[in-house]
Amino acid sequence: MDIAEVYRNDIWGNFVYLGDDQDLELLIGDVLVRLPDQPLLKAIDSCVFGSVGRSNQGLTLPANVLNGGEAESWLILLDDAMLASKQTEDIQSVIAHEIAHAYLGHDRVADAGDVSIELDACRQVREWGFQGSGADDLRHSSE
Ligand SMILES: [Zn+2]
Repeated sequence: MDIAEVYRNDIWGNFVYLGDDQDLELLIGDVLVRLPDQPLLKAIDSCVFGSVGRSNQGLTLPANVLNGGEAESWLILLDDAMLASKQTEDIQSVIAHEIAHAYLGHDRVADAGDVSIELDACRQVREWGFQGSGADDLRHSSE
């Protein structure tokens, strides 16, 4: 059994979520098990999930903005409020979008204002089979 399969079989014990919203935590796990092996390994080995209650639906930060250390980890912050305002598939596309930024190595701080990274993330999300605002070029070209 390869490591990706081990992770999928015990997804709840293998990813880090910093927050109090069990519904969002369940959705994160549901997204992770849907990912192909490489992005799954990336998400579990080098991503920490949290949640934020503000107008941003999600935010992916290189972890070195916190501690100046390794740049190969990303902090993904998600907006709990979207649970009340969006459909499940749409929410999953937003989560997948943030994972895509980490998977593609984007640095929101260094790349701020670069629309091309948003379009790259949307394209990746569509390739992974998600539909919704996280995959919507138009929604992300005006951010
Ligand atoms: Zn984005």
